[in-house]
Amino acid sequence: MTYIVLMGAPGAGKGTQAKMLEKNLGLPQVATGDLFRHNLKNQTELGRLAQSYMDRGELVPDSVTVDMVRDRLSQADCDGGAILDGFPRTLSQAEALHDLLGEFGGRISVVPHIHVDQDVLVARLLKRAEIEGRADDNEETIRTRMKVYQEQTAPLLDYYQGKGLLVEVNGEQSIDEVQQDLLLVIQESAV
Ligand code: AMP
Repeated sequence: MTYIVLMGAPGAGKGTQAKMLEKNLGLPQVATGDLFRHNLKNQTELGRLAQSYMDRGELVPDSVTVDMVRDRLSQADCDGGAILDGFPRTLSQAEALHDLLGEFGGRISVVPHIHVDQDVLVARLLKRAEIEGRADDNEETIRTRMKVYQEQTAPLLDYYQGKGLLVEVNGEQSIDEVQQDLLLVIQESAV
């Protein structure tokens, strides 16, 4: 089983890179943001619960998020592992993931961190807002998401560094170059 946790601030390109990794590695991308958006679109109870948090750019409560991830990782296509994109985002989610993978008899192979400078990130997100029209890509929500990332998610970098799993990848290169670096990092972790 190969579980890869992709880290990076909003706008770092996690989603794009995770989709490419899915193709290149044959492992499913498990993106909690996408799962929430899917539930929102289908107006499920989970979607209704998540909506107010997402609209504000805040995190959906850990218990809800962890249950959703447990369900997704239990599905047959994740038998060989998964590329986690947007999860974990808090220390408590990271601990829950550790326990969850333990239940499956697996563990994290590597945690690549796609690093992009703060100014570049904001510019990218505003541009994405224009192109994709994502409801949570307006300026105020972007600012909240950045703050939430700094306060709640960035501490995970130290956490995974301490476990010897974190590897830095330069996210200010072309999309293909970032992908190449990610594939190398993942290959090296498998040796
Ligand atoms: P994303 O597409 O990853 O930027 O996620 C969009 C929104 O979904 C976030 O701003 C949160 O409101 C919610 N979300 C996604 N992943 C998580 C998570 N791991 N924990 C809590 N909320 C999340």
